[in-house]
Amino acid sequence: MKISTVMVIGAGQMGSGIAQVCAQSGYKVYLNDLNEEFVQKGLSVISKNLSRQVEKGRMSEEEKRNILSNFIPSTNLKDAEKVDIVIEAAIENMEVKSKIFNQLDQYVPEHAILASNTSSLPITEIAAATKCPEKVIGMHFMNPVPVMKLVEIIRGLATSDEVYEAVEDMTKSLNKIPVEVNDFPGFVSNRILMPMINEAIFTLYEGVATKEAIDEVMKLGMNHPMGPLTLADFIGLDTCLYIMETLHEGFGDDKYRPCPLLRKYVKAGWLGKKSGRGFYVYN
Ligand code: NAD
Repeated sequence: MKISTVMVIGAGQMGSGIAQVCAQSGYKVYLNDLNEEFVQKGLSVISKNLSRQVEKGRMSEEEKRNILSNFIPSTNLKDAEKVDIVIEAAIENMEVKSKIFNQLDQYVPEHAILASNTSSLPITEIAAATKCPEKVIGMHFMNPVPVMKLVEIIRGLATSDEVYEAVEDMTKSLNKIPVEVNDFPGFVSNRILMPMINEAIFTLYEGVATKEAIDEVMKLGMNHPMGPLTLADFIGLDTCLYIMETLHEGFGDDKYRPCPLLRKYVKAGWLGKKSGRGFYVYN
């Protein structure tokens, strides 16, 4: 299956990163979001990232221009009729994703693949919103996308081998490393990572230590490159909460209950780095 044109849905933190690595590898990319302003915001983040590469001498001005010329801004899902694969990176919410996939089903050409970058939602359930569950697959990139090598590839119950292989090949073409996992809440990455972050938030909530101390213990003691509370701010606290809720509901086990402090921060709009404030304050 030849893939040359991609649609990325959601020009936020993950979508803009995914769009960037696709365009850098020569794919034509429709970058889609709810309105023109959100699309332009995503494109300007990408342009700044590329300019940084130029400043560091890792890329020429001409290369940057060529990469930027691979983008086509989109606010209409109907543009999916021109693509070989859609990678959805809208917010972590089943209702939103099901609606998007249901609409895409009506527009995409017969051969096109429908991938979701969901962090934890069941691929099989997302696929059930379409009439072609064999074409639906999880393609879980890590944050920040241009830097991180791993892509978890998640097979839904009905995902075909042909679709799996095409996505595996595409992942390699992006200079990333695919790892195959099955469809269970949180897959592998977030089933292990998110309860650790949630426990770090409980540790803060119960007054065991300050946020700085918690992060320092995990950095210096466990050799983690950043502490769990800083990492939560980078991921987005709303995303962390959605994932904990998915684990809690999916396994029906109270060990996955989200910390009340996480809920409180999300309700306050303290979503982490992207909103300027989470456990820490950002300029
Ligand atoms: P974000 O809030 O930064 O971006 C989401 C974008 O989706 C926004 O620009 C929003 O306007 C757009 N959007 C919402 N509904 C839409 C719709 N119906 N059509 C088109 N666009 C729509 O969120 P994010 O951190 O980029 O996360 C996106 C997805 O990636 C989520 O499923 C998340 O779980 C997953 N993910 C996140 C991380 C992370 O570290 N943040 C890592 C891996 C996967």
